[in-house]
Amino acid sequence: MSTHLFVCPECTQEIEVNDPMREAILSGGCPVCAASAEAAYFEAVSEH
Ligand SMILES: [Zn+2]
Repeated sequence: MSTHLFVCPECTQEIEVNDPMREAILSGGCPVCAASAEAAYFEAVSEH
C-alpha cells in the first residue's frame, strides 16, 4: 500500500494518507475544511 501526502490548497493542511483515505478525500473532500480535492493535490511519499 502506498502512502500519499495530501496538501489542501484551501487550509494548507498536510495530511499523510494511505490509498483508502486518498479515495475518501477525493470523493468527500478535505477532512479538515471539506474543500473539494483533486488527484493533483496528492504527492507520493516514499516509505522509509
Ligand atoms: Zn482543507
